[in-house]
Amino acid sequence: MNMPAHPMEPFRIKMVERLVSTTREQRAAALQRARYNLFRIPSELVRIDLLTDSGTAAMSDGQWSALLRGDESYAGSRSFYRFEEVVRDLFGFEHVIPTHQGRAAEHLLFSLLLQEGDAVVSNNHFDTTRANIEARGGLAIDCVTDCAYVTDAECPFKGQIDLAKLNDALSRHRVVLGMATLTNNTGGGQPVSLKNLREVAWVLRNRGLPFILDACRFAENAYFIQRRERPDLSIRQIAREMCALADGCIVSAKKDGLANIGGFFACRSAELAEQFKQRLILVEGFPTYGGLAGRDLEAIAVGLEEVVDPAYLEYRVGQVRYLAERLDREGVPIVKPPGGHAVFLDARKFLPGVPPEQFPAQALACALYVEGGVRSCELGSLMFAAEGRPAKLDLVRLAIPRRVYTASHLDCVAESILCLYERRHAIRGLRLVRDVPVLRHFTAELDVVAG
Ligand SMILES: *Cc1c(COP(=O)(O)O)cnc(C)c1O
Repeated sequence: MNMPAHPMEPFRIKMVERLVSTTREQRAAALQRARYNLFRIPSELVRIDLLTDSGTAAMSDGQWSALLRGDESYAGSRSFYRFEEVVRDLFGFEHVIPTHQGRAAEHLLFSLLLQEGDAVVSNNHFDTTRANIEARGGLAIDCVTDCAYVTDAECPFKGQIDLAKLNDALSRHRVVLGMATLTNNTGGGQPVSLKNLREVAWVLRNRGLPFILDACRFAENAYFIQRRERPDLSIRQIAREMCALADGCIVSAKKDGLANIGGFFACRSAELAEQFKQRLILVEGFPTYGGLAGRDLEAIAVGLEEVVDPAYLEYRVGQVRYLAERLDREGVPIVKPPGGHAVFLDARKFLPGVPPEQFPAQALACALYVEGGVRSCELGSLMFAAEGRPAKLDLVRLAIPRRVYTASHLDCVAESILCLYERRHAIRGLRLVRDVPVLRHFTAELDVVAG
């Protein structure tokens, strides 16, 4: 097998940020103080931070200079109109409403569309999406293809919605809204095809149900469609096609917006937009800033233009693939094929001796932190367990921040994981010592299982 190739970065570096180094003893102590919850570790004690790709992008010179153009007027800001024009052009939705981040858009939308007992279908609902639905007394139903649960099955569109599951959910529950997460974050950052979106849109339309995209990673999804389904279309054309099938989208601009904060809701219906704005004024702010500064809107507008650059996407997805291939060739169990923003380790295969009740993915993420100062994120039984039952998969997500780390950083990550893989039998499971009712992975406390 050839050595995996890292794509050349389509940029050069103008500003740098120092990385601190820590000793293994310091990290082990920090982990204990953090009660085995990596969200509680100060970033100063992290060498390579792959906790999330959300809000962690490096902004370009274009974005930094756009910040200075920010118009901070309370109403009718020039920066808003610029932002609105970019979103309209890329997504094709008439009404564009900024929010301070993605979950604010989720919260507002669900508060308008959901009553207690109503259900929402999607491929996989992301953690905040599910929590916002459940907080309204709603039911979040996952309809992703079975292929998504077979981590080494190489389906090209593992984020697909299974139409039989969708129809089943529609016949059994009071579904009021259909969604699709692009790419499917929880399921490994996997794409959804245009064909599947078209079929889902058709099913929902026949029932008169709205279809809203959770389009945080729309550009990465479009890139996979171009590679695997529609090489005849440009990234921009694919983005427009995806949106043309839906009634609206919610977006966290902290992902493919290449911004450090921000989000938006966009839709076709003037009536829905008007209701959304009325709520927005109550909790987020006036509709031309929605909880953001004018300069944030400028940074997002420039970021959305940069993210659809084919050279950027080639590098972006190539970098993720590089890390995945380095691990795969050494036999480390990962989700295949790799997704757009992260490499996912299959913790149940990595740690066969740790049963799902002992949070194998959290145990692996903690061990990786102590080993190499690499912070990752559990997506498994800690994040998603329902009524005490373990999640379907226990994954460790190595999310790659956009334009932040180089090939040698990723080599360091790969080497830490390979060292750990050799000593995997020594890694012990964890148990909860403090549980919390919602989104517990952010604040729960754990300890090592005595052995
Ligand atoms: C990040 C994310 C959200 C929530 O957005 P925030 O900006 O973090 O509030 C919703 N859905 C998906 C798929 C996400 O990745």
